[in-house]
Amino acid sequence: MKTLLFATNNQHKLEEISAIAESEVRIISLREAGFEGEIPETSDTIAGNAIQKARFLHDRLGIPVFADDTGLEVEALDGAPGVYSARYAGPNATYDDNVNKLLNALENEGNRKARFVTVIALIEDSEAKLFEGIVNGTITREKRGSGGFGYDPVFLPDGHSLTYAEMSAEQKNSLSHRALATQKLVEYLKGLAAG
Ligand code: IMP
Repeated sequence: MKTLLFATNNQHKLEEISAIAESEVRIISLREAGFEGEIPETSDTIAGNAIQKARFLHDRLGIPVFADDTGLEVEALDGAPGVYSARYAGPNATYDDNVNKLLNALENEGNRKARFVTVIALIEDSEAKLFEGIVNGTITREKRGSGGFGYDPVFLPDGHSLTYAEMSAEQKNSLSHRALATQKLVEYLKGLAAG
């Protein structure tokens, strides 16, 4: 089975992606690969950040690596927080700070449409391959649920009555933006194995 390093320090993401991809690929964490430290994330696009993170680790460790980057794009805010989702309420913002800022920004707004966009960049040799997952939804008027992380308590995916934070991990993993991008990565890896 192929081994890929997942370039993240986010334990939630590691668990989500491992649960989806584990039948096809062995995923190792940065800790298992012996890497400690910060990974730069300075691009102004989601795809650019995913490539930057994967490239940074690939250059240092020389093994196949993938990285993901995600942004929440809110229509009434012209796509914000987007690529700045992690730092929406400031450089040291907590998940809760970001969610509160978002709810305040939309307080008098009728258009609650938003979408989560994930891009996964895979670098095996030199070239980066990209896999995208998008889920459309709406931002609720208050936080609901305690599962997941980030903006999960206020994101209601279209066609569902539960926010991501009210869903079980299995349910979120069956339909989330990151799951869709991961499924594309897994299909690609399966194709390579078959070919
Ligand atoms: P990152 O740059 O991919 O780490 O994601 C940026 C920010 O988007 C994170 O700090 C979270 O606030 C948010 N985010 C990413 N993925 C999710 C998710 O699955 N649910 C809710 N928020 C997320």
